[in-house]
Amino acid sequence: MIRLLIAILFTLLGQVSFAGDEMSQWFEQLKRNGDVDDLYKVLYAMPKGGDLHSHSSGSVFAEWWYELALAQEENGYTYYTKTRISNCRGYGGNEFDDPYLMYFINIQESNWKRLNKCEQGEYKRLSGLTEVEKVAWQNSIRLDKPYEGRNEFFQTHWQRLGDLVRNPYLATEAVARNIKAFSAEGVMYMEPDFNPYGAVHPDGSRISPEEVADILRVRLKQKDIMETGMEIRFQLAALRFLPTALKDLKRNYEFAAGNRDLWVAVDLVGREDDGKGYPGRFLQTFRELRRQIHGIRLSIHGGEVDEPNRHVRDTLILGAERIGHGINLISDPDLMLLMRGGPYLVEINLVSNLLMKYVDDYSQHPFPEYLRLGIPVALSTDDRGMWDSTMTDEFFVAVKEFNLSWGEVKQLSRDSLKFSFVDENIKQEMLDLYEKRIAAFERKMIRGNEIRKIKTECRGFIRKQYHLCGKK
Ligand SMILES: [Zn+2]
Repeated sequence: MIRLLIAILFTLLGQVSFAGDEMSQWFEQLKRNGDVDDLYKVLYAMPKGGDLHSHSSGSVFAEWWYELALAQEENGYTYYTKTRISNCRGYGGNEFDDPYLMYFINIQESNWKRLNKCEQGEYKRLSGLTEVEKVAWQNSIRLDKPYEGRNEFFQTHWQRLGDLVRNPYLATEAVARNIKAFSAEGVMYMEPDFNPYGAVHPDGSRISPEEVADILRVRLKQKDIMETGMEIRFQLAALRFLPTALKDLKRNYEFAAGNRDLWVAVDLVGREDDGKGYPGRFLQTFRELRRQIHGIRLSIHGGEVDEPNRHVRDTLILGAERIGHGINLISDPDLMLLMRGGPYLVEINLVSNLLMKYVDDYSQHPFPEYLRLGIPVALSTDDRGMWDSTMTDEFFVAVKEFNLSWGEVKQLSRDSLKFSFVDENIKQEMLDLYEKRIAAFERKMIRGNEIRKIKTECRGFIRKQYHLCGKK
């Protein structure tokens, strides 16, 4: 009897792994066939885990910004954008904080009214742009030209957005759009940063961070969002090189601790080649905060830089559980040795790293080395609005450039959930749901004839870089 039971058990186990094996072979065949559009469709429809690294205001597609900004007229916000420079200012001014010589900076009406007549004449109401201006406006916040790189991104894109990022209704609606779009491509969990500070009413008066949190809470409970089933938590990022960075970090930590239902972690962001933001600067502040506040998780950008340095190591010393980017970890083999098998995860942003030119091409990217040496990694989208890309694109690049096996593809999704900062019980529910969904997906794919039924949504990055989906 016992022998019979054992035999049955082995037969059942055999069937489970047989389905997995069959899918692995099916996936190898799919790659060998060489039809990249088919591969893209499969990766689009495939259930995915979480996106652990994205920035709310950098994740809004240019046409969304335009639509959402105009829709805000209903809430009393009217936007103006700079379409002319008439040399109204007799001096250069501070071009970082208050750039003058830049087209398509966006301001709301209350600020436009404060300008002198000459400067007012340089702006046009956003709703009044011609078709040509509208396209140019949208292109001004995409990293879409070969000569554009990190300088364009860090020094013009964010400045251009201007007052658009100070409207909490617009920001919340942008999060809602991302939830729906990510959910449509099979993502189950998101952990973007979202900043509740500096928000204003149409008349320019302040909206407190607590009010912004409530606006976000209300929107996330609405039916269209609940129906996606997406789990979402937020991080709070501080710009690391600012003179106020230590104060900002403290403020973020305290705000997250007071709003734990939504905010679970803090982050440090901003260019690392600006030495003022080096990780060690924050060590004492983190220690001080940890003395008083429990349970705030740390996912910190580290090693998003060209030259070898100790940033990843020093970021782990700060207490980070996850490292954002970690490109130059490859230059610290001793640390890699320590990171094999966990407990830290590196958030990999393949599209971002290429467009920001941290790698010239994917043969230079350390991702496969981390993955195959057993350092936990997950794929994420960073500032997808500016790259015009999706989560599927990240998986496509990974599979295409590094010949990922089906098992590796699943491991990336599992690790993205395992290293998320949600409560353990919700995490386990998500992991169970992922297993159910991926098993159902495998059965469907193996049955055959499914690929042609899949409808994808292709964005600019994948069309341009890989000529997919009928290049436009
Ligand atoms: Zn980032």
